[in-house]
Amino acid sequence: MPLQSFCCSPLVLAGLPYVANQLWRALTLCVCTCALVLFLLPQLAVAQASPTQPASPPPLQVPPAQANVPPLDEALKWQGNETFELVQVSTNVFAFRFGKQSNIFIVTNAGVIATDPLNPRAAEELAKAIHQVTDQPVKYVIYSHNHWNRVLGGRPFKRAGAQFISQKKCLPFFEAHPHPDLIPPDITFDTTYELKLGERTVELHYLGANHGACMVVLRLPAEQLLFVVDLVVPKQLPYRTMPDVDVREWVRSLRDLEKNLTFNRILPGAGRYFVAPAAAVREQREYLENLMEAVNDVMSQGTREPEALRQAVKLPDYQHWLMYHEWLPLNVERIWALYELGQ
Ligand SMILES: [Zn+2]
Repeated sequence: MPLQSFCCSPLVLAGLPYVANQLWRALTLCVCTCALVLFLLPQLAVAQASPTQPASPPPLQVPPAQANVPPLDEALKWQGNETFELVQVSTNVFAFRFGKQSNIFIVTNAGVIATDPLNPRAAEELAKAIHQVTDQPVKYVIYSHNHWNRVLGGRPFKRAGAQFISQKKCLPFFEAHPHPDLIPPDITFDTTYELKLGERTVELHYLGANHGACMVVLRLPAEQLLFVVDLVVPKQLPYRTMPDVDVREWVRSLRDLEKNLTFNRILPGAGRYFVAPAAAVREQREYLENLMEAVNDVMSQGTREPEALRQAVKLPDYQHWLMYHEWLPLNVERIWALYELGQ
């Protein structure tokens, strides 16, 4: 059959709408697929080119520590890191360090005697540390002195029924400088206080004005141990410009300690040592005396400006002490104020 005749045959003509319909459907499918592919390709390409999104935002850039001493209400921010450590320093006597500050607690058969709770975060860890070594409750919390970097954080111990003890001159300071995390003392005393709990006796001694308003040292007569905060920091220069310190009274207090109290080791409340020999008290006093003498010598030769004094006064015997290079000029400036201003 010729082609023309075939195309025009009734049979073929009857099948044309079906073929056209199939062609139209195929064309529509093809156009839709192409459009879909054209739409998706760029999206896939972008997805492949983009790096994986981080699960959390990048860490904040923390600026370096400021050179100036921050105000008291910044105290919690400059205590260094939040690492903590617990060591046993004698039978049932433990030292706890949080950042750069340490305290001690004593376990007796009638409860626990704790000292400076430091701050709320430290107190949380201190409570866990105490619970780690005993089931006894904390019955007493003793404040070494009034400075906020030592006394905030007592709330959980107060809630559990502990009684707080301090020298009586802490009270007017706490009233004049209130803080929401500060628990005022329940028991105050004047010069000495003997605390008995279970089989233990703990002595508290007030040595007069020296550092803060109401500094006491704590003595454990059974072991002849002395817990001393801020007055003695073994093998380390005094902190910066020695804020809130009466230097002459500090020296006098250390001399009284050496003369009047019997102890063979000290437990410092700050610095790198948990335990130090009793000689650390004498060494601290001698450092202050040598510093005062060196500043006085240079000033009496006519150098009276703090900047020049900072350059001129050196104490090579102490260059192995921690923070010698950083804090000696600041210590010198503090002694300049003592001689220039009278305190
Ligand atoms: Zn202090």
